[in-house]
Amino acid sequence: MRYEFVIIGAGVAGIFAALELKKKRRQVLMIDKGKMLEDRVCPCGQNTEGNGDTGDKYIGFGGLGLSEGKFNYTNDFGGDLAHQVGDEQALELMNDVDQVLTTHGANRTEMYTTYDPELTALAQEAGFSVLSTKTRHLGTDLSRMVFRAFYEELKVETDFCFQTEVHTITPQAAGGFQLILEDGEVVSADTILLATGRSGNEWLARQCDILGIQRGETRVDLGLRIEMRGNQLQAILRHSVETKLRYEGHGYSATTYCMNPRGRVILKKQEGLAMPDGQNYRERKDGGTANLNFTLFVPSFFPSLAEADRYLHDVVGTINRGRSRIAAQRLRDLRKPRSSHSLGSDREACSIIPTLDAEFTDLRSEVPELYIRATLEFLDALERLIREPIDQETILYAMDSKLYSPGIKTNERFETQIPRMFAIGDCSGTTHSLSQAAASGLYVGRLLSTEPHLGKIPWAF
Ligand SMILES: Cc1cc2nc3c(=O)[nH]c(=O)nc-3n(C[C@H](O)[C@H](O)[C@H](O)COP(=O)(O)OP(=O)(O)OC[C@H]3O[C@@H](n4cnc5c(N)ncnc54)[C@H](O)[C@@H]3O)c2cc1C
Repeated sequence: MRYEFVIIGAGVAGIFAALELKKKRRQVLMIDKGKMLEDRVCPCGQNTEGNGDTGDKYIGFGGLGLSEGKFNYTNDFGGDLAHQVGDEQALELMNDVDQVLTTHGANRTEMYTTYDPELTALAQEAGFSVLSTKTRHLGTDLSRMVFRAFYEELKVETDFCFQTEVHTITPQAAGGFQLILEDGEVVSADTILLATGRSGNEWLARQCDILGIQRGETRVDLGLRIEMRGNQLQAILRHSVETKLRYEGHGYSATTYCMNPRGRVILKKQEGLAMPDGQNYRERKDGGTANLNFTLFVPSFFPSLAEADRYLHDVVGTINRGRSRIAAQRLRDLRKPRSSHSLGSDREACSIIPTLDAEFTDLRSEVPELYIRATLEFLDALERLIREPIDQETILYAMDSKLYSPGIKTNERFETQIPRMFAIGDCSGTTHSLSQAAASGLYVGRLLSTEPHLGKIPWAF
């Protein structure tokens, strides 16, 4: 079979590219190693077992778009799309992403902004910068509904191939590519869009090695998840449910991530590792808690994916001890420092009851000094901002992480060193968020959909 465009990966980046190509009735095949939407297990039932990267929760039609579905429209965080296409165009593209979402049902939830000029000024005095965004937070149920609408629209003219990986990609001397799928089927394509997200890292690394595509450095964010008394951050959460703060310390930059007022700390499994994650109270039927949690991430950069993975497994694997062990400590003990005891009988007396089972220990003996220092300095600055001491019962859980794809060298059109092979979304290393991944797909889809047909064979299904 021959196609004008083969999109490998049906996450947000691939889908937004496909929607643009479909508008101009271009001939497209989407290949995804995961299942089609209806066959994916609903992510709201906590799928915490197994290797999350390969479970239904992470792969298949919609990719990671079926997770929290929080679309942040900003250049302040979530990737470097603005470096690639310019500040203004990046924001315009994200605006277009939102329009596409709302015409597919996302208007059931309101957009909100986290911009608060008064807070921004106060935060600056305390040593923070506030990262602002406009947000449309779909949540898991609405995300699924929107992605179902995408699928219904695409399936009319787009071919799909699920639960399949591409074994070999061979550029042809006359232009275009030959793809051999896992089951031996051969597909020809004029143009390939790589859109495999982070879950396709290993596959992409292999293909890049074979095709001679250069890869850049790999980023890994690691940090403690902090569970506080729910009413402590009222001063900075007057206008929104999340405020993103960045603190620049000596030799590090620390940024808050995934703030969940009234939420729980839950276990996530990724890359065969167990980590504390945040869950929004709206994701549960049993209501909210008296706590608030977020992670304080500190990024590190490594020359290769292998080195980044090694560091991640060293740090988190050591804490896990071959099982799903999460280590934790009370702030009062971390500040002293001496090890926290497990809660035992004083559980009821505590002002902050942990929402995740963890082993209370001395974090200084398990967590690299950088993350301890960053957390303590951040919390000192936070006290200056909220003008009250942080509850000493505050719990620090080790270690949360966010994994990135190594960058791929592309031009301003997201085209790799191999002509007619594009890399969009998180697998390009340029984006790290739903909105920017979708925007990169929309941008490339738009560019390519208006180009003249390249093939010599008339396109007909
Ligand atoms: C738990 C979690 C929650 C998140 N929540 C948010 C959030 O609320 N807001 C936000 O902005 N960002 C969030 N992110 C980040 C965000 O999900 C990603 O930045 C975004 O999904 C990237 O889109 P993508 O299309 O590039 O990749 P993905 O969404 O990962 O899609 C990649 C697709 O490629 C397929 N694939 C992978 N390898 C292959 C292969 N070899 N062959 C064929 N198909 C393949 C996968 O099955 C998948 O469908 C979250 C990330 C995680 C891990």
